[in-house]
Amino acid sequence: MAAADRVERIVIENCSIATVDADDTEYASGHVVVAGNRIEHVGAGPAPAGPENVVRRIDGTGHLVTPGLVNTHHHFYQWITRGLATDHNLFDWLVALYPTWARIDEPMVRAAAQGSLAMMARGGVTTAMDHHYVYPQGSGDLSGAIIGAARDMGVRFTLARGSMDRSEKDGGLPPDFAVETLDGALAATEATIDAHHDGSFDSMTQIAVAPCSPFSISTELLRQGAELARRRGVRMHTHGSETVEEEKFCHELFGMGPTDYFESTGWLGSDVWMAHCVHMNDSDIAAFARTGTGVAHCPSSNARLAAGIARVPDMLAAGVPVGLGVDGTASNESGELHTELRNALLINRLGAHREKALNARQALRLGTYGGAQVLGRADQIGSLEVGKLADLVLWKLDTLAHSSIADPVTALVFGAAAPVTLSLVNGKTVVEGSRLTTVDEEVLARVTRDEARRLARIAAGA
Ligand SMILES: [Zn+2]
Repeated sequence: MAAADRVERIVIENCSIATVDADDTEYASGHVVVAGNRIEHVGAGPAPAGPENVVRRIDGTGHLVTPGLVNTHHHFYQWITRGLATDHNLFDWLVALYPTWARIDEPMVRAAAQGSLAMMARGGVTTAMDHHYVYPQGSGDLSGAIIGAARDMGVRFTLARGSMDRSEKDGGLPPDFAVETLDGALAATEATIDAHHDGSFDSMTQIAVAPCSPFSISTELLRQGAELARRRGVRMHTHGSETVEEEKFCHELFGMGPTDYFESTGWLGSDVWMAHCVHMNDSDIAAFARTGTGVAHCPSSNARLAAGIARVPDMLAAGVPVGLGVDGTASNESGELHTELRNALLINRLGAHREKALNARQALRLGTYGGAQVLGRADQIGSLEVGKLADLVLWKLDTLAHSSIADPVTALVFGAAAPVTLSLVNGKTVVEGSRLTTVDEEVLARVTRDEARRLARIAAGA
């Protein structure tokens, strides 16, 4: 018997399906067959008769099946510094929090990563990312702790190995004790690629090179970071054009705006994605479109820090790849991505295009296929198509919260946060009946609370 015949299959039937393929194909009542870690069939009506070795058959009545959500920007460690500096703009918020962040250690980062991952996974995220850029000396193997947390949770994961080397003494924003050296940051980033990056089709762990932001990194770290990423064939990520203050900083220090500065250092390209991109003029958007540079749109964080409204409709019209990001939970305390579908739609409708800015299907695409594009994984995840990886979510839409909304995609995006009946990552169950199957949420609630309190005590000098 061939190995393919022994593969375990899961059959899901009687559900609505939004495939988010290139034609936005949807089925009012359809089926998905998962074989191992791949999608074997997706279509209208019942599943084809007779697949071998069906280990589970699910009646999806009352549910919508979508691709799993893809998060494209986050800072996991901030899970233990939520609810602080709540009435600040970005620069004031950073200056208030850097001294606390500089005291993190490995147990804190592990707990915070578990908390961040759990909150996203129970809300339908199947591919997570963490942009981690705070590596205090002697704090342990922080990257290893984060990657281990994602592996244990069972979600697909990109670690954007961040760094900062421009501190106050060099005109930057972070305090001197919170940064690495240029050579130290580059060497540690390459060591992380060596130890953890898997570039295979069904990879569960990928590494990106990710210096933090123009106001916390040297020009040389950008230049050499780009060279490192391209030499090793990994992706590149950073923050860009987040606030008017950042724009002013770039003009004063570099004599140009953020996008021109990134272009001058090799940081535009189809292997790059940037968080925020709120303050972009027409020529910035054209440069992103021309080079295939992606955007992680973080609507709640942008609102929380009063950064502004990113021009997502204009980016999409120009052909810029756009995904959604939670951003760190010190600037988006909920830490959930499924609510960002709604927030992206609502916040963009407050911008220039008003009610034409985004519709429900575009919002769902941002959170799925768009995210896969900016992470460089659109061939593997982000839509429900035969041969792609089995990362999918069954959203329960037959309760009081949604049952009177006829269109399931409208219910998912415009309605309350929908419960997740089942979430599969790589064909394996991560959420069942709204509960995580791989971690104990109550234990995690205690551990993250205790680590948050320990960090607060240390930061206060107690
Ligand atoms: Zn961020």
